[in-house]
Amino acid sequence: MQKARLSDLPDDAFQGKTVLVRVDLNVPIEDGDVTDDTRIDATVPTLRYLTDRRARVVVASHLGRPAGPDPAFSLEPVAARLGERTGRPVSFVGETVGPQARAAIEALEGGEVLVLENTRFEAGETDNDRDFAAELAGDAELFVQDAFGTVHRAHASTAGAASVIRERGGRAVAGLLLEKELQWLGAALEDPDRPFVSILGGAKISGKIDVVSALLPRVDRLLICGAMANTFWLARGHTVGESLVEPDRVDVAREIMEAAGDRLLLPVDARVATALDGSVAPRVAGPHDVAENEAIGDIGPETEALYAEVIGTAATVVWNGPAGIFEERAFAAGTLALARAVADATDEGAVSIIGGGDSARAAAMAEVTDRITHISTGGGASLAFLAGEPLPGVEVLSEADDLAGEGGT
Ligand code: ADP
Ligand code: MG
Repeated sequence: MQKARLSDLPDDAFQGKTVLVRVDLNVPIEDGDVTDDTRIDATVPTLRYLTDRRARVVVASHLGRPAGPDPAFSLEPVAARLGERTGRPVSFVGETVGPQARAAIEALEGGEVLVLENTRFEAGETDNDRDFAAELAGDAELFVQDAFGTVHRAHASTAGAASVIRERGGRAVAGLLLEKELQWLGAALEDPDRPFVSILGGAKISGKIDVVSALLPRVDRLLICGAMANTFWLARGHTVGESLVEPDRVDVAREIMEAAGDRLLLPVDARVATALDGSVAPRVAGPHDVAENEAIGDIGPETEALYAEVIGTAATVVWNGPAGIFEERAFAAGTLALARAVADATDEGAVSIIGGGDSARAAAMAEVTDRITHISTGGGASLAFLAGEPLPGVEVLSEADDLAGEGGT
């Protein structure tokens, strides 16, 4: 069934209504300044949609992982930035729930935004505590979920408050960002244009086995790279030297290879060095000549060419995980080459989707961000989605078909 979206509600459903919006304002802050606006900008369309329809907008988000109240994790500077980026009146209250927060919400006019203090200052947030969720829900009549990056977590602000609002007859709907994320990721899984090519890399196979297993029956080609490829090389009996490998996942790697047959491609060469910190220039090695004291830092040039060719045939590309240690210039080439290949395929008409925080950074480094169809704002959440795991922050939303029958406004 289809989850309810903002656009399923009539335009006059918002005027003067108190709306609790969960967004993802978990942004990097240095010396009290926001250093990257990506996530803030991703919330702007939903916040403008609501303020333009004169809703009284209450914004909840977490920031970082504070153990309790901690000024270093206050959302105050983020609220200021949000005001600049939305061009709407945005105020801040230094409390998540409580008398000050309540007073600030009461003082809100239609078309104004209030940012509550960091939800993680409250122990009840990660416990999804019922009382805290009810306090957070306050008198809100509508819950809007737009924090795609946290929908895989059942916290008070991502799921609990929405349940409370729905139980008393209110609605919970997807915001514009969440709608876009679900649409692109969902289409890739459910009805991809073919050939469907997926590139999987990054640090560890262990965190992505479920993603591999979920994608395997759907893809036409699976291109393995990054450190996860090392474990596959080990399973094949190739040399890996001192590379990052997970010996306890060799069996899983072997099972995956057997199930995938020739749909799964492994690197045919690698860039290796005796140190991976950039202090030693890499050399190119084949599968049988990585020395004992060397480690793999990137895919090699032949693999780049092979993978780029396959990516060039794709009608749908889903990419998660860099091909190498792209943070080091010496090992960035493979990742940058794949990013450009994905962008080129997109220019030729393919649908391209990038999930994962490091992969999104790699796309930015390759300067192809605006040539990609959809770059997910949620690292862990996009992986959970691709792995077919439940997303509590989505499951809690109203069904589109039920909106009419649910009462409330
Ligand atoms: P994402 O955030 O896109 O999901 P991951 O977090 O899984 O990606 O992986 C990114 C990390 O993987 C990067 O920090 C990169 O340095 C590391 N990595 C990639 N290839 C290797 C390798 N061969 N050896 C060690 N680390 C690697
Ligand atoms: Mg990462």
